[in-house]
This record gives sequence, C-alpha cells and structure tokens, in this order.
Amino acid sequence: MMFAGRFGDVRDAVARLCADYPGEYWRALDRERAYPAEFVEALGNAGWLSLLIPEEYGGSGLPLSAACAVLDEIHASGCNAAACHAQMYTMGTLLRHGSEEQKRHYLPRIASGELRLQAFGITEPESGTDTTRLKTRAVREGDDFVVNGQKVWISRTEHSDLMLLLVRTTPREECEKRTQGMSVLLVDLRDAQGKGLTIRPIRTMMNHATTELFFDNVRVPVSNLIGEEGEGFRYILDAMNAERILIAAECIGDARFFVDRASRYAREREVFGRPIGQNQGVQFPIARAHIQTEAAAGMVERAASLFEAGEPCGSEANMAKLLASEASWAAGDMCIQTHGGYGFAEEYDIERKFRETRLYQVAPVSTNLILSHVATHELGLPRSF
Ligand SMILES: Cc1cc2nc3c(=O)[nH]c(=O)nc-3n(C[C@H](O)[C@H](O)[C@H](O)COP(=O)(O)OP(=O)(O)OC[C@H]3O[C@@H](n4cnc5c(N)ncnc54)[C@H](O)[C@@H]3O)c2cc1C
Repeated sequence: MMFAGRFGDVRDAVARLCADYPGEYWRALDRERAYPAEFVEALGNAGWLSLLIPEEYGGSGLPLSAACAVLDEIHASGCNAAACHAQMYTMGTLLRHGSEEQKRHYLPRIASGELRLQAFGITEPESGTDTTRLKTRAVREGDDFVVNGQKVWISRTEHSDLMLLLVRTTPREECEKRTQGMSVLLVDLRDAQGKGLTIRPIRTMMNHATTELFFDNVRVPVSNLIGEEGEGFRYILDAMNAERILIAAECIGDARFFVDRASRYAREREVFGRPIGQNQGVQFPIARAHIQTEAAAGMVERAASLFEAGEPCGSEANMAKLLASEASWAAGDMCIQTHGGYGFAEEYDIERKFRETRLYQVAPVSTNLILSHVATHELGLPRSF
C-alpha cells in the first residue's frame, strides 16, 4: 500500500489474513445478512481483537494507532470490521475506569477469546442523539441493579457475551447537570437473556448485526458497575472518542479500497481505443478522492496520538470522523462513476462497500452533531440545544 504509515508489520499481517476472506465470502454473507463468524474468529485467534489489552492482562498492549492500522487494513482489503470493532473501543472505558478486580476478572478472558465484549448500549428510540435524556433506568435493590427500558441500534448483541450499557441511576431532574446521574454497567448478555432481556434483530441496508433491546427487570450485580455511580457519562466519553477515531480509520480503509479499485480499473478499461484513466475527466476525480483520503488520515493520526497521550481529543476525534466518513463516501461515489455500469454489479464489491460506508455519516455520531460540537467547543458559537 502506498501510504502504509506506522505499524507496517501489523498491516502486512492483517492484509495476509484478509486475503483468505475475499469478495465472494462477503457477498454471500451480505445476501443472507449473516454474521462473519469465521472472519471474526480468525481475527480473534490472531490476537488482533485484544491488541489494546495490556500485556499484564493477556493482550498485546499496543496503542490506539495500532488498532487504527488493523481496522484501516481490514477495510482497505475489502473486508468489514463492523462485526467486531466494538471490543477495541469499549476498552477505553474498561481500562481507564474499571476496578482492578473487574480488569483481572474480565480482561484475560476477553484477551484469550473466551469472552467477547462486542456490544455498546447507548442509543434509545426516544432520546436519539440527545444522550442525556436516555430513559433506561437502573434502580439499586440489594446487591443488584434492576434495569428497565429500551435501547435501539445496539449492534452485535447476538454475537457478544458482554455489553457496556449506559443507564440512568438518578433522574435527570434531580441532577445539577444533565450529564450527571448516568452509570455504566457491564452486562452479561448470556445471563440476562431469558431473564428479562429480549433481543430483536433489525434488518438494515447493509449487513450489520444490529438489534433492539428490551429490558424488563433485568438484574445486574452491583459488582458490574464501572467506576462510580452517576459518573458514567464521563467514562463513556473515553469509549466514544476511541470509537470515533477507530471508525474514522475504517472509513480511511474504505476510501483507500475505492481509490485503489478505481485506479486499477481506469488503467485497464479501454474505451475509444485508450484506457479511460488517460482522460483527465476520469483521472482527476480519482486523484481528488486520494487527496481527500490522505488529508483525513492525517487528522485520524492526530486524534489517535492525543488519545494515546491521555490528552483531551473530543474535537479531533469528531473532526477525524467527519473528514474520513465524507472522504470514504466521496471516494465510493467516484469509484462507481469510474466503473460505469459495472460499479452496480454485485461481483465488483463496490456497491456493497458503498452501502457499508454510508453508515458512518450517521453512526456512531451524525455529521450535524459533529459540526455543532466544533462550532460551540472550538469556535465559541452559541449552543443551539
Ligand atoms: C447500523 C447501525 C448501527 C448502530 N450501532 C449502535 C450501537 O452499537 N450502539 C449504540 O448505542 N448506537 C448504535 N447506533 C445508533 C447511532 O449511533 C445513532 O443512529 C446515531 O447516533 C443517530 O441517532 P438517531 O438515529 O437517534 O438520530 P436522531 O438523533 O433522531 O437524529 C436524526 C437526524 O437529525 C439530526 N439532528 C438531531 N438533532 C439535531 C440538532 N440539534 N441540530 C442539527 N441536526 C440535528 C441528526 O444529525 C440526524 O441526522 C447504530 C445505528 C445504526 C444505523
């Protein structure tokens, strides 16, 4: 790859693994909306899903940029990491705010692949992006929290053992600040199913194992509270920043896939007796997409280094996600145009990737909310909400 960046060895190893999961594999799953179980297992066995877990807990103790390299490479290879990326971003909350006992109990088993922490439960049908209005309540009863409420768009719950869940433990009206009164629980999904937790899959335009969750008196032991009660919003921000940076890295991978496929096709496809890529009307959009992608990649690297240094990185994580998701979408559009009619044929994998990458202008945070964050936090403009 032209811009391999740091962690070249990591990228090479991931690319070799991905070569065993070509377009046919993803196309077949896409048709059935089936989970890429073999791919996720191979990544787990190779240790890529636990690379952020410190060595003392059985992981490889690599920094966030290494995780970015893994996800970028998976996407640039034509594969999709959406089935398993959450294990990387949920680590931000667990590593920084989990107790030593919790880390000793869970991390080695997550690192060995015995347990999967692939679900992150924030979004609710009514509150949407306005997270502090979430309604799922956890009320303490003896040694348990009793959880009632509903979540939507919670991905991978059917393929995960654990879920990091954000709930209200004190009603918003009783808190001084709207960000107070929320707590993070580590929910054992295997325990909770059939004991008050109902999981309902949602079919989407791309293959993304996402679900709706209904909590009806689900009991979660108090020992599974992460950090202090009422401080959960602050803890979840670490996961959210990591999530934005990691998703941005996936978008960079998608964009690199599109630029690579378009360049290859434009060199090979001959019309009017010459390669279509000889026409500047075809080559300039490819060059523009490449420039946009590499500029966005620079912002992803900046955000990742701030995160690694434990510095505030909210704005950079947001900016990286916005730039990368727009770069991948623009590159996808360019790639379809470069391929003419063939861009629409399933067997080229471009239309599949195009559908997959569209998500990232909406999730995990939508473009408008990023613009609003930057306007108010960086530029001192008045808040609109
Ligand atoms: C496939 C998929 C997987 C997902 N996986 C997860 C997951 O695993 N865990 C999880 O917790 N969530 C997940 N999500 C949820 C995702 O993070 C939300 O969909 C996203 O944050 C937007 O929230 P919403 O859908 O409620 O949109 P809304 O908040 O209803 O917003 C709708 C639109 O209005 C705009 N808007 C809203 N308010 C304003 C405003 N004040 N100013 C300007 N524009 C505004 C938004 O930008 C958006 O474009 C997933 C979503 C999808 C589609």
